[in-house]
Amino acid sequence: MQHQTDATQAAAFSDIGNPDSPFYPRPFNPTPPYPHGFPIEVAPVPIDRWAEGNTGIPYLWSFEATEPGPHVALVALTHGEEICGSYALDLLLRERVRPRRGRLSLLFNNWRAHQRWDPFAPNRAFYIDHDMNRIWQQAHLDAAEAGVELDRARELRHFIETVDVLLDLHSTQQPSPPMTLPGWPPRKVAFACALGWPPLVIRDDGAGRLRDWRGLGAEDGTRVGLVVECGQHWVAETGANALRAALHLMAHVGTIDAGTAHAFGMSVPVAPPRVLTVTHTFRARCAGAELESVWPDIVEIAEAGTYLGHDGVGEIRTPYPAAVLVMPVTRPRPGAVMLRIARDTGS
Ligand SMILES: [Zn+2]
Repeated sequence: MQHQTDATQAAAFSDIGNPDSPFYPRPFNPTPPYPHGFPIEVAPVPIDRWAEGNTGIPYLWSFEATEPGPHVALVALTHGEEICGSYALDLLLRERVRPRRGRLSLLFNNWRAHQRWDPFAPNRAFYIDHDMNRIWQQAHLDAAEAGVELDRARELRHFIETVDVLLDLHSTQQPSPPMTLPGWPPRKVAFACALGWPPLVIRDDGAGRLRDWRGLGAEDGTRVGLVVECGQHWVAETGANALRAALHLMAHVGTIDAGTAHAFGMSVPVAPPRVLTVTHTFRARCAGAELESVWPDIVEIAEAGTYLGHDGVGEIRTPYPAAVLVMPVTRPRPGAVMLRIARDTGS
C-alpha cells in the first residue's frame, strides 16, 4: 500500500535532532573537554522498540508491495556508534512508510554493539569483536570463528543476497560533508550520481564491505550497494542527512513516489554531484601515527609534496598538485585508515 502524504509527515522530518520532539531522548550536552573532541547534539534513538522485527530476524523489518519492483534495503548501525541511520529508520517505521512497488527492508545492523553506546565513551559502541564493515567476505563468513559481528553477518547473509539496492548509512569521526562511497565499479559511481544527492561521490576501493557483498559490488550486473557518510557522528543535521539520502534513493528507484519524498522534506538537487577518485589510502602503521594538523575534510592542497603527517613509519605528503584530502583522522588508532587522497574527476 502506498503511504499517504499529509502535513504531519512534513513535520516529522524536522523532528530529527529536535530536543522538543516527544519521540527522542534529550540530547546529551557535556561540557568541554568533550568525549572524543566533539559535543553531542543528539542522543541515540531508543531502538529497542524495533527489536522484534517482522522477519524472524531481530531488528529487521521488511514490507512488500503487490506491484513488482526492486528490493531496497536501508541499513543503520553497521558501526554501532554511528547513530544517524537509526534516526531515519525510526522515523520511516513510525510513519509506516510502505513501498509503492517491490520490497522495502529496514535493518538495524550491529544493534548489539550499539547497546554499548555511552555518552562518556561513545566510540566503545563501534564494534564488539570485528568491524562489521570489513567481514563481508566468503572466507570470513564460512570460517568456524565465532564472534558477535560474524554471527550477525551469518544470520543476515541470505537476506542481503535478496537485496537489489542497499544503502548503508554511516557517519564520520570528524566534521564532513555528506558523501556517497559507491565503491570502484563505474556502474555504481553512475548510480550514485544519478541519485543527485549527496552532492559528493567518492570513488574508492576496499574489501569486506557490506555494500559489496556478492553482486552488490560486482563490476557488472544490476544490484547496487552504497555507503553514504552523512556527516559528523553527533551533529543533529547528520540524522536529517541520513533521511535525505534514504528519500533520494527510494524516490529514484520508485519505492516511494516523489510526492511522498517531498512531503518528508526532500528537495531537488541543484547540480550534479562532484566525483572524487581515491588514488592513495594511508593506514596508521603503529601507535604514534598522526596528521600534522586537524585538516578539514575535502580540502584541496595546491602543491605536490606538502607535508601532511606520518603514518608511524614514514612521512605522508601530497603525491600531486590539487590533491583532495578525504576523511582525515588526526590521531588514528593503529591499523585504521587515517587518510585518503583523491583527484577531482568531474561530475
Ligand atoms: Zn562507519
